[in-house]
Amino acid sequence: MLTKQTIHCPNCGNHAVRQQCLIEKEIVTETACPVCDYLLVNCHRTGRVVDSYLCLNTRR
Ligand SMILES: [Zn+2]
Repeated sequence: MLTKQTIHCPNCGNHAVRQQCLIEKEIVTETACPVCDYLLVNCHRTGRVVDSYLCLNTRR
């Protein structure tokens, strides 16, 4: 279910990681850049931006 890919950060252009996780039956896409601390989490189905911390809490 989970996918992970390396992309270019939309903020700084360095390598960022985009991965999908499942939260409450919704697939959300998390884009995280370790260089500039960019973090965006949005719902795959609706495109809606969701709370960034949900994804992190689920993973830990
Ligand atoms: Zn960045």
